[in-house]
Amino acid sequence: MNRFFKGCDRMKVWVAHEKDTLRTIADKNHLQLEELITLNPCIESPDQNIAGKPVYLPSLSDFTMSDVDEIPTCTVSTDYINNWIPLTSLEDMAKTDYDVLIIGTGAGGGAVLWRLCEQWQNQGKRIGIIERGDQVLQSHARNISTMNGERLTKYFNYVSRPLPGSAPEYPGARQLFALGGRTLFWYTFTMRMHLSDLMKWPIPIDELKTYYKIAEQTMNVTGEFTTDSSYTEILLNRLWAKGYATAEKIIMAADLTPQSYGRVHTDVFYSSISFIAKALNMMTPFDLAVNARAVQILHDQGKATGVKVMSRDKNSYILKAKTVVLSASTFETPRLLLHSGIKSRALGHYLTNQSFMIGTGTMSRTEFPAALGTLGIMITQTPEKPYQVLMAGPGDFYWYQTYEVKPLTAEVGATFFCYGRTESRYENRITLNPNRLDEYGVPEIQVHFSFNEEDTAVIRKMEEGIKQIASSAGIILISRDGRPAICLMPRGDLHHDSGTCRIGDDPLTSAADQNGQIRGVSGLYVADNSALPSIGCENPTLTTVALSIRTADHIVANS
Ligand SMILES: Cc1cc2nc3c(=O)[nH]c(=O)nc-3n(C[C@H](O)[C@H](O)[C@H](O)COP(=O)(O)OP(=O)(O)OC[C@H]3O[C@@H](n4cnc5c(N)ncnc54)[C@H](O)[C@@H]3O)c2cc1C
Repeated sequence: MNRFFKGCDRMKVWVAHEKDTLRTIADKNHLQLEELITLNPCIESPDQNIAGKPVYLPSLSDFTMSDVDEIPTCTVSTDYINNWIPLTSLEDMAKTDYDVLIIGTGAGGGAVLWRLCEQWQNQGKRIGIIERGDQVLQSHARNISTMNGERLTKYFNYVSRPLPGSAPEYPGARQLFALGGRTLFWYTFTMRMHLSDLMKWPIPIDELKTYYKIAEQTMNVTGEFTTDSSYTEILLNRLWAKGYATAEKIIMAADLTPQSYGRVHTDVFYSSISFIAKALNMMTPFDLAVNARAVQILHDQGKATGVKVMSRDKNSYILKAKTVVLSASTFETPRLLLHSGIKSRALGHYLTNQSFMIGTGTMSRTEFPAALGTLGIMITQTPEKPYQVLMAGPGDFYWYQTYEVKPLTAEVGATFFCYGRTESRYENRITLNPNRLDEYGVPEIQVHFSFNEEDTAVIRKMEEGIKQIASSAGIILISRDGRPAICLMPRGDLHHDSGTCRIGDDPLTSAADQNGQIRGVSGLYVADNSALPSIGCENPTLTTVALSIRTADHIVANS
């Protein structure tokens, strides 16, 4: 067997095989015999059988192995993409007439993109999607093996920023501008809105249920995340025994399918990047640009015509589109509309968010068997208890990374997240502040938000509710990390803000019709949290995704 070694530049070594001499090696490899003799002074004769001996050869650049001459050489691809996700420049996007242009890549924008690509396969439609932020993470933060609860929270604080104009009435609000939007960090709790709330919506219940099913299937929604976790099972039984009939295992958007048949499930926790990934594999091409900030919606004679976009270096581009879908979030969507001269009584109003209370407690570890697992329980609202309680543990979270080492402790912790119903009120709103422009020349917003008497009464009930649940489950409430055992989070801290472009039948109380079309401008739609007409006590994102898919279907049906 011939073996070829490469050392430093002049140290190429050939291991001679049976019957090899310096002369045969020179012949086979088209080398000068004299050169070989000079390089191998220890070999006495050029015709000596040197089988098995190392032979020094000239450098590789002027030498090819004739042994393999007859085998065709593989071609090596030098084709490349310059990113892990294909991007299009704004210069190129400005040359295209889009059928649909989506603004924002969070929950709403991602869902619309995926659904349009799925429904329009091989139809030659042109879809564009632009994102103001950069690429911050390639997947949900919890799918990244270097993250744990603490690092994830701190990283979110680093990449997000306080919402300008939120103080003093909504001081806890933060914004994240990034490919994937806030779904990069969301907790993935995906419960449906309560039927009693949905009954008041402008959409037939059966239709809503269909879209919930599509959203749940697409996002891998499951109630099995904490199955077999003794921590969850034991506390659930305690709660049921005390009459908490609506207590259940928590529902989450998490892919629990084991790896099999060569199919790798990397996206355990769902994010909008998963929507984009699905869309990439449809037979509908789309263009995506990041660091592309929509600054104005263009419209003419009551019809959307495109969007004015600015790059990070403040160059302006006009992107033309027959249909524009706004998915820029509860604060940025109405801001863009108002700045574009689109006005209606309800636009920017009815800002709705739940009150948010956190409780922390502890239990003796000896109450549980050796394998503890995590705690994930939800207790849904009832007419008497207009709030939802989620229980997580052993710390603030219901998950941990496979690399985390969990030391055995004498106590286990439990955390309560409690979301209280608030009324959607006209007075709670955003307005433009013409005196404060951002670096792109767009007016900042001012948030006006307060709780009314009913909201405050719910907050008092929540505090009592946490105490009763803790007592029923055998949890002792204690302060943790300097936080009181039960505390009300600052207004705005909860990312369930919604309603500023809500859908409805009445133009006086809804900025969009029931399909998400902004009143007064045809071809202009909203598909994000701002479209939600109410949020009850539940986490809103599953509903936003369901509605966004429905809006995409409406666009397809009317194209
Ligand atoms: C830590 C955390 C935990 C959460 N947990 C849950 C949970 O468990 N369950 C739940 O239901 N919800 C949860 N949420 C809330 C959830 O993330 C939001 O409800 C959801 O992301 C809202 O979707 P959206 O499309 O309205 O907005 P976003 O996801 O914020 O997307 C808006 C996108 O638009 C982009 N954008 C903004 N302005 C422009 C512009 N001018 N031009 C171009 N692009 C623009 C933004 O950069 C962003 O990518 C959580 C949020 C956070 C931060």
